[in-house]
Amino acid sequence: ADATTPLEISGLTKRYKNGFLAVDDLSFRVERGQVCGLLGPNGAGKTTTLRMLMGLIHPDEGEIRIFGEPVRPGAPVLSRLGSFVEGPGFLPHLSGRDNLELYWKAAGRGESHLEAALKIAGLGDAVRRPVRTYSQGMRQRLAIAQAMLGLPDLLVLDEPTNGLDPPQIAEMRDVLVRYAAEGKTVIISSHLLAEVEQTCTEVVVMHKGRLVAAGPVAEIAGHEGAIVIATPDV
Ligand code: ATP
Repeated sequence: ADATTPLEISGLTKRYKNGFLAVDDLSFRVERGQVCGLLGPNGAGKTTTLRMLMGLIHPDEGEIRIFGEPVRPGAPVLSRLGSFVEGPGFLPHLSGRDNLELYWKAAGRGESHLEAALKIAGLGDAVRRPVRTYSQGMRQRLAIAQAMLGLPDLLVLDEPTNGLDPPQIAEMRDVLVRYAAEGKTVIISSHLLAEVEQTCTEVVVMHKGRLVAAGPVAEIAGHEGAIVIATPDV
């Protein structure tokens, strides 16, 4: 067990009750300061993997270690993880800031770093406006600010660029790069190679629950495994 490694996954396997093998013997690690993209077409097993590392569902086999500690429901190390699963419900008539304050109070999780999180998320004066006036990109960044409220050492985001246009994706990259530059580590999922190329330093390519390729984005972008994205029924 290596307490300095943000994430180490080995032999991870998950079969759903209907017999479907969603994650199949998956192993990879993510180092401090990396922005790692979990890339794969719909159904590749990305969300299942992220839910296991958040401690929300149990693997059938294998192990997930966060900073050296095995993940299980209620594990203390989960307090070092901040996460965002798509579609958090914000209260539309409240400001972005009030939404986050309310959320943090309800979560009852120690010190809030509201100002820092809002700054990294780059929401500016918009935080004082009601959420109903927000664009999709601003909502996504508010959701990410929410996941960052505890300044978690490991930030896990499921499809944070979903529904964003290219300028918004570029803003999202800046948010994640700023966060990683503070010595933090980020993991996102995406089904688009171009997004991962724009946003991440590392990539793990998944297809049908299995690892196809993993490494620095610059190496993987030209790797034939990444082509599964273009032809999902390979
Ligand atoms: P997406 O982008 O569509 O979410 P993904 O890569 O995140 O894709 P998962 O959501 O992990 O993929 O799903 C992997 C496969 O497992 C899919 O084929 C999905 O239909 C199946 N699956 C997900 N949840 C369950 C469940 N509770 N029971 C049975 N099968 C499931």
